[in-house]
Amino acid sequence: MTIDLPLQAPSPAGLIWRVTRNDAPTADPERETILENPGFGQHFTDHMVDLCWSEQGGWHRPRVSPYGPIALDPAAAVLHYSQEIFEGLKAYRHADGSIWTFRPDRNAARLQRSARRLALPELPTELFIESLRQLVAVDSAWVPGNAEESLYLRPFMFAKEAFLGVRAAKKVAYYLIASPAGSYFPGGVQPVNIWLSKDYARAGHGGTGAAKTGGNYASSLLPQEEAYKKGCQQVLFLDGEYLEELGGMNIVLVTRDGRLLTPKSDSILEGVTVDSILQLARDRGLEVEHRRITIDEWREGAASGEIVGAFACGTAAVVVPIGALKSEDFEIVHDGPEATALAMSLREELTDIQYGRREDTHGWLVRLDADA
Ligand SMILES: *Cc1c(COP(=O)(O)O)cnc(C)c1O
Repeated sequence: MTIDLPLQAPSPAGLIWRVTRNDAPTADPERETILENPGFGQHFTDHMVDLCWSEQGGWHRPRVSPYGPIALDPAAAVLHYSQEIFEGLKAYRHADGSIWTFRPDRNAARLQRSARRLALPELPTELFIESLRQLVAVDSAWVPGNAEESLYLRPFMFAKEAFLGVRAAKKVAYYLIASPAGSYFPGGVQPVNIWLSKDYARAGHGGTGAAKTGGNYASSLLPQEEAYKKGCQQVLFLDGEYLEELGGMNIVLVTRDGRLLTPKSDSILEGVTVDSILQLARDRGLEVEHRRITIDEWREGAASGEIVGAFACGTAAVVVPIGALKSEDFEIVHDGPEATALAMSLREELTDIQYGRREDTHGWLVRLDADA
C-alpha cells in the first residue's frame, strides 16, 4: 500500500514523502518479546527511509518503505572504494509516552562534515531531522519504554554509482534504519579495561579520523581483536605519543582536584556525548581542558596521584569508567572511587535529561513524534 502523507505538514525542504507501509510487520507479541530484551543492533524495525542524490537532481525521492535488502550493482563504488559515512543517535520515550531525540542538529552537522571529507553531498539539517521524524512516525511502537532503553537510529550514506573509475560518485543514497537498544550494561555499569595499541593507528593527520566513516572502523577491527586477547574490551589509539580516542568512543581523564582533560586533535571524531558531558561538568563549576595530552602525562599523573581515573563517552554506552589501561610494557590501574563516582553522576544527569526526568536547560531535546 502506498500513500502520500496528506496529514503531515509539507517537508521543510519542499519534498513530498512517499510512505509505503509494511504489509507484513512484526506481530505485536513478537515485537514485545524483542523489546523485553533487545540487545544492541540485532533487531530492526519494520520500515526504513531512503533518499537519492544525483549530480543533476540533488536530493530527491524521499521515501519510507518496508525494511529489507538493498539492491546494489556489483560495481557500486562503495563496495570498492569505501565512499561511505554514517551517524548514530537515539530516540527516547518519556514517561508520558512522547518520543524525543538528543541534539540531532549536532549529528546532522557532523554528517555534513563527514560528507565533505568523503566527497559525498551534504544532506541539509532539516532533511536529516525530517528523516528521523518520518521513520518514528511509522515505527513508534518500536521505541521501548523501559529505563535505559531506546531506539537506536542509524543514518548512513554511500556511493551507489556503478563505476569503477576512481572519483567521487555522481549517484549517492542516504538511508535511515532503526534498531531497539537495551541497556548497554544489563547488570549495572562495569568499568572496562582498554588496550593501548602501539602497532596500529586509527587515523593520521589529514586522514579521515574526524569523519564518521566505515573505513576507520574497518581498520580498528584487527587491533580490537588483539585487545580481546589481552583481556581488554576496547582499544586506545595514539597519534605518536598523543592520546586520540577509543575505536568508537571519546576519552576523558579526571584529576585529583576534579578537572576533566580530553584530547584535542584534528583526527579525533567530535562526539556529541563527550561535548554534552563536559558541558554538564562546566555547569557544575568543574574545569575542563581540551588540549593535547601525551601518554606519559597520563602514566606519570597516575603514578603521582594527580590523575585519579578516566572514562569513555559515546552514544551507545553513554559513559563507561575505565578500570585499567594495559599495554605490552606497562599498566595503569584506576581503582579509586572518586573518578568513577564523578563519571557515574555525570552519566546519570545526562540520561535524566535524555529521558525527560530532569529539566533540559540547554534545549538539547527535539521531539520526534509530533511538531513540538
Ligand atoms: C561515533 C563516535 C564517537 C562518539 O560520538 P557520539 O556522538 O558521542 O556518539 C567517538 N569516536 C568515534 C570514532 C565515533 O565513531
